[in-house]
Amino acid sequence: MKTLSCPRGHGPMELKTVKKEMVFKGVDIVVEADVYLCPECGLEAGTPQSAGALQLAIADAYRAKQGFLTSNEIKEFRKSRHLTQHQLAEIMNIGIASLKRWETGTVQSASMDNALRLHLQGMPQTNNFSGNREISLPRIKLVARHLESLSGRKLLKKGDKFLFLAKYLWYADFVCFRQLGLGLTGASYAAITYGPQLNNYRDLIDLIKEADENKAEPLSGEELRILKQVVERFPEEQIVYEAAHREKIWRETETGALISYTRADELTEI
Ligand SMILES: [Zn+2]
Repeated sequence: MKTLSCPRGHGPMELKTVKKEMVFKGVDIVVEADVYLCPECGLEAGTPQSAGALQLAIADAYRAKQGFLTSNEIKEFRKSRHLTQHQLAEIMNIGIASLKRWETGTVQSASMDNALRLHLQGMPQTNNFSGNREISLPRIKLVARHLESLSGRKLLKKGDKFLFLAKYLWYADFVCFRQLGLGLTGASYAAITYGPQLNNYRDLIDLIKEADENKAEPLSGEELRILKQVVERFPEEQIVYEAAHREKIWRETETGALISYTRADELTEI
């Protein structure tokens, strides 16, 4: 940041953080702002770099006072629900441009603030992205063991990144949800380049391998039939891998975002 000289000839001004009282949309607020201050005469000048930051600070101070979600809160909530801006805009039936503006400082209306809370704060983590279940690592292990015995193939391999197992699990979870309204494992699946994959798989792989499948809720007859159906439809790893890549619900989900179980009836390969 270059230094600024006082236009009254007092030499260089100092960069200071000052508290500013102001009225925004009829509400008294206090914000901290970076300004150049002349130590001699007290003249203030704004910094061009801080203009955007100041606007955001004003908007957030106003929102805090009104009890609205701030830009950061909107962004954090959205991310905690693993939603992209596009997905949240779609769920809320609003334009993505509005959401982008709120996340960068434009103040949302009271009704939109309510709508945001309903869709974010109120959204249980076990929702469209976990098949209406809490994730159970023992159950993932149990399902993996069943898939192994049904297919006669080793899927829980040492050093494996679950490249193939994840596709089987994804199909099993989504077909169960499609038929029973309830997933198998509670796992969330992200759309990555290599197809649908367990969300946070890097953290989960070892935990799943170490999980005790005897602690899992036993599989029902219906669930076992679905596992059998999945293995019969995709008898080899390459087949399930390629089938998953043909699914539009994977292709249409942005890279890194979670695939919604509500789209399970759009599967085309099974
Ligand atoms: Zn001065």
